[in-house]
Amino acid sequence: MQSLWSQKTPLSSREELKGDISAKNVVIGAGMAGILIAYFLKKRGQEVIVLEAGELASGQTKNTTAKITSQHGLIYKEMIKNTGRLRAEGYARANEEAILAYEKIIEEEQIDCHFERIPSYLYSTREEGRELLKLEEMAALELGIKAHYIEGTEIQELPFQVTGALCFEDQAQFYPLEFISKISEGIQIYEHTKVVSVKKHEIYTEKGKVTAENIIFAAHYPFLIIPGFYFIRQHQSRSYVLALEGKRIPEKLSGMYYGIDDDGLSFRGAGSTLLLGGGSHRTGEERGGFCDLRNRAREYYPHATEIACWSAQDCMPHDRIPFIGQYSIWRPYWYIATGFQKWGMTSSMVAAMVISDAICKRDNPYRQVFTPQRLLIKAGFKNLCTDLIESVVGLAKGWLGPKEKRCTHMGCGLIWNEEEKTWECPCHGSRYDAEGELLDNPARRDMETKHLVGTRKK
Ligand SMILES: Cc1cc2nc3c(=O)[nH]c(=O)nc-3n(C[C@H](O)[C@H](O)[C@H](O)COP(=O)(O)OP(=O)(O)OC[C@H]3O[C@@H](n4cnc5c(N)ncnc54)[C@H](O)[C@@H]3O)c2cc1C
Repeated sequence: MQSLWSQKTPLSSREELKGDISAKNVVIGAGMAGILIAYFLKKRGQEVIVLEAGELASGQTKNTTAKITSQHGLIYKEMIKNTGRLRAEGYARANEEAILAYEKIIEEEQIDCHFERIPSYLYSTREEGRELLKLEEMAALELGIKAHYIEGTEIQELPFQVTGALCFEDQAQFYPLEFISKISEGIQIYEHTKVVSVKKHEIYTEKGKVTAENIIFAAHYPFLIIPGFYFIRQHQSRSYVLALEGKRIPEKLSGMYYGIDDDGLSFRGAGSTLLLGGGSHRTGEERGGFCDLRNRAREYYPHATEIACWSAQDCMPHDRIPFIGQYSIWRPYWYIATGFQKWGMTSSMVAAMVISDAICKRDNPYRQVFTPQRLLIKAGFKNLCTDLIESVVGLAKGWLGPKEKRCTHMGCGLIWNEEEKTWECPCHGSRYDAEGELLDNPARRDMETKHLVGTRKK
């Protein structure tokens, strides 16, 4: 299950940590967020190293679809209503600036990563979708985004009729590993160096201890339970991607598309390959997945050939705003970048701008927008309730069920995902392979009984 990006761009390997060292800034995690943060710090003359449990970009980043856009689904109307115009404006501007920042870095470093400016569209196939898209257009315009609504008849390159669409102009797409390969060149990264615990300025890895003035958690999902309590502020959701080629696949898509309906799909081109995304579900939930997505692909592109398929997951904060900035008031020298809700390309860039400014003691206009110390109860209340219920049910299943099927994070009952052959935690989204080896945070340890044979949940 290698993504198109992994097939096309092998990344060079780095050494692992040997023994104890110290550094001014230490980033945990070498995904898009961690590498961009390290890149910005280095550009500003700061000493920085990156500790990575696996390999460079081996987490969610290698399995993204890599749209670089401020169009994050239907968000702006709700965001203005729930969090106020100022915060929504800051969110929109930060993400628009992130697109520009990619363009600037790519130009300055002369990176050949298939970066192209291209419009992004939200679409609906339902009558009621028209109204929702028009309201979102008004909200986007109010926040300064170049947006316009168009009737469905103007969209010709999707394999079905849409009722309406909302275009954000001047968005972008690229090949993420080509980009990361180049910007990581001068950065000191230790691969196969998993952080097992962090105490104040000390980071304990499986290979040695690292002492740091500032510590940046860019490990996708923060694996510490206290402080921060991020596990009660977000859940994880999986999505699936198919790379299709052949008959009736458009030669080149002129836009990127994202459906706002419950069964909406994501489309982007990569040369003459079409990347079709969908099948999303909460991690540990038994629906969606490759099977769902393949059925849709067969319906719309019956003669296409699948040349790759992959999946990933992302953190979904209750109030739909990433957590970027100081980790906790109790640890002013720790920083966090998480909760990217499947829009981590621009969010990683925002994280790099905000966190590097904080460390270099510079003002940043977006610090307050993304601060993890915010409390937006109105914006996140419904999602908080859903997550609490999931957690209580998951914990009860874990503690009443067989011990060997418990998540090592908090003891929730694990669900077997037959399609991906993985054990998944529906509470916080940790994943393990069929042999019980940890795949995804926030758990830090393998399953207690390794080599438990995977069986379909009854
Ligand atoms: C299917 C799918 C499609 C997507 N498409 C888009 C898109 O088109 N546009 C967009 O903007 N976003 C998209 N996203 C979201 C985006 O891919 C992610 O938000 C982004 O890649 C997250 O980057 P990251 O650096 O935070 O995490 P990761 O890439 O997961 O990096 C975290 C790193 O930390 C390491 N790590 C974890 N624990 C430890 C530890 N204890 N010690 C050391 N290292 C550790 C991991 O090994 C990993 O390499 C998509 C998401 C999904 C699920």
